[in-house]
Amino acid sequence: MNDIVLEECPICRGNGMLVHEGGWSVEVQCADCSAHTVYVEYKDETEKRSAEEAVAYLWNMGKVISSERGE
Ligand SMILES: [Zn+2]
Repeated sequence: MNDIVLEECPICRGNGMLVHEGGWSVEVQCADCSAHTVYVEYKDETEKRSAEEAVAYLWNMGKVISSERGE
């Protein structure tokens, strides 16, 4: 088994966490700032796992949305 690893927030270095919305989509959100990834939708447990891995990948790549202006 391989657990999903979330790096620290690319904006503020806070903790990232998987947030499920409505039982059909997931994103990674920062516990400390407003940074988050896009939502990825899923239909079943298999897709749920893939979706979690997808948003974790985006997060770890630093592809996050923040209301603060960066770059
Ligand atoms: Zn943050």
